[in-house]
Amino acid sequence: MEDCIFCKIIKGEIPSFKVYEDDQVLAFMDINPISPGHALIIPKNHAANLAEISDGDLSAVHRASKKVMGGIEKALKASGVACVQLNGKGVNQVVMHYHLHLIPKVPGGPDLPVSTWEIIPGDMDEINATAEKISAALKNG
Ligand code: AMP
Ligand code: ZN
Repeated sequence: MEDCIFCKIIKGEIPSFKVYEDDQVLAFMDINPISPGHALIIPKNHAANLAEISDGDLSAVHRASKKVMGGIEKALKASGVACVQLNGKGVNQVVMHYHLHLIPKVPGGPDLPVSTWEIIPGDMDEINATAEKISAALKNG
């Protein structure tokens, strides 16, 4: 897609710190890292989000994430890696080309905001009602 920054990275029109590539995906470093080693994995075919990406590309991105995570853990002695993927402006998706963030917790690195939320027990009736709404929506296509 013409105006997409990640499509431009795939085409080599914008530089990137590439860590892994195959026929279907590219992995490169995030230039605004939450922690050292923060990387992004993207499909080479443009798709805005989880709703748009093909099953094949989705599977390729997540297969590659196993490899890249292994490299991050080995290289940086990470004690954990958060995989984060945002869909839509409401959750602050900024680049509208599907991307999976791999964000490691490295020795001496910051605690990750994506993995340190407060655990607050929910209202079970409300949770149940919401689950029923979602499963009804899924049944009705
Ligand atoms: P989001 O859409 O909120 O999931 O995040 C987009 C991510 O892309 C942000 O973490 C940015 O730092 C990152 N980003 C934007 N432009 C570039 C670029 N040219 N190279 C690497 N990472 C980028
Ligand atoms: Zn794109």
